[in-house]
Amino acid sequence: MYDRLEEKLQSGFRCVKLKIGAIDFDKEMELIRHIRQAFPSGQVELRVDANGGFSPDNAMARLEALAQYDIHSIEQPIRQRQWAAMANLCRHTPLPIALDEELIGTNERDRKAELLDTVRPQFIILKPSLHGGMAGTREWIALARERGIGSWITSALESNIGLNAIAQLAADIYGPRITMAQGLGTGQLFTDNVPMPLEIRGDQLWMATDQK
Ligand SMILES: [Mg+2]
Repeated sequence: MYDRLEEKLQSGFRCVKLKIGAIDFDKEMELIRHIRQAFPSGQVELRVDANGGFSPDNAMARLEALAQYDIHSIEQPIRQRQWAAMANLCRHTPLPIALDEELIGTNERDRKAELLDTVRPQFIILKPSLHGGMAGTREWIALARERGIGSWITSALESNIGLNAIAQLAADIYGPRITMAQGLGTGQLFTDNVPMPLEIRGDQLWMATDQK
């Protein structure tokens, strides 16, 4: 994981997300400590995603351990649909919490507002394909903004057509100068993709309009 990280940093990325909560937590902390020794926070923004891997009992201690390393945010520290426990974490956490899976399946405006008002996360993360498409994403972000809750957009392994649409949506919502890193996965995992003039320059996704 460390080698892949170095490779990404060499190619110009300054924000990296690590998946944690899957293996031994002490080992994951060791990796984060190692990364931070080599790359201070001024150089690399580190985000982590627990994918619900912590329990309400151990989450706070783990958030405190992570906070020593200047982590930008943690996604979904505990499994979704534990609003009271998540609200408690969000109230006391030493590092910003971002909800991700938590938002899936909440599609009505009033229910979205209720979730945000109850849990009070620091951030929400929108995957348009999973969070109600473009209209659903815009609604989530508008409700979050009204409450002073931040957000960013990520892709969910769409083809280049979807990635292009999501990138344009992000530009429209946050642009023209987006300063917060978005998670626009590049479809580099595809062996067969639809040709689009999208290209990564450093850590930025560009539409190369000089191409066909
Ligand atoms: Mg996530």
